[in-house]
Amino acid sequence: MTVNSKNRGLLVVLSGPSGVGKGTVCAALRGMIPDIVYSVSATTRPPREGEADGVNYFFKTKEQFRAMIENDELLEWAEYVGNYYGTPRRFVEDTLNSGKDILLEIEVRGALQVKQRYPDGVFIFLLPPSLEELRSRIELRGTESDELIRGRMTVAAEELKQIENYDYAVINDRIENACSRIRSIIEAEHCRRERVVAGLQNWMTKV
Ligand code: 5GP
Repeated sequence: MTVNSKNRGLLVVLSGPSGVGKGTVCAALRGMIPDIVYSVSATTRPPREGEADGVNYFFKTKEQFRAMIENDELLEWAEYVGNYYGTPRRFVEDTLNSGKDILLEIEVRGALQVKQRYPDGVFIFLLPPSLEELRSRIELRGTESDELIRGRMTVAAEELKQIENYDYAVINDRIENACSRIRSIIEAEHCRRERVVAGLQNWMTKV
């Protein structure tokens, strides 16, 4: 058993405005960091083309989602442009206790709730190169009506203001650049003195 495997895993939160490319970055990160576990959220929004239940999201009705809140099954949840999104709590806890890292791709209000429960989490904010670039990325996706696009741009402007609650800001100019920056952040966080020393307690105390 390695020293680090005795530690709890890292909880990594990735947020950023709609259209910044969080989904694409997460998909690319899976290839780059195969050991990290991805938290699958529950949502009441309908699946987009190509999305599968249990893979991209757990798709729920509003009643089912409310029951999850009432049964304390969610680590955090938030309403976003008319739908609910939330992180299943048990899966996160089990993954961390097994010593594995977990990545949550969630919006800013949910991230704040996670920070209250896990202050030692690593909070990363993904930024677009510019606001104009963000708008054209949202429009290019073409999966949403004009009204939804306007709603997402308004929320995006609000979300950008929350950057002060994050530890790191990564500009998504190119997917591969953003991914390698995130990988570097995760590696550096694993080398934090307090995390490493916590894993060495058994023999450090005998020195
Ligand atoms: P989308 O509908 O584009 O998949 O996601 C909309 C927003 O909801 C994104 O900002 C995404 O990060 C966020 N989101 C996805 N899952 C969760 C979750 O479990 N909790 C919270 N608070 N936000 C989520």
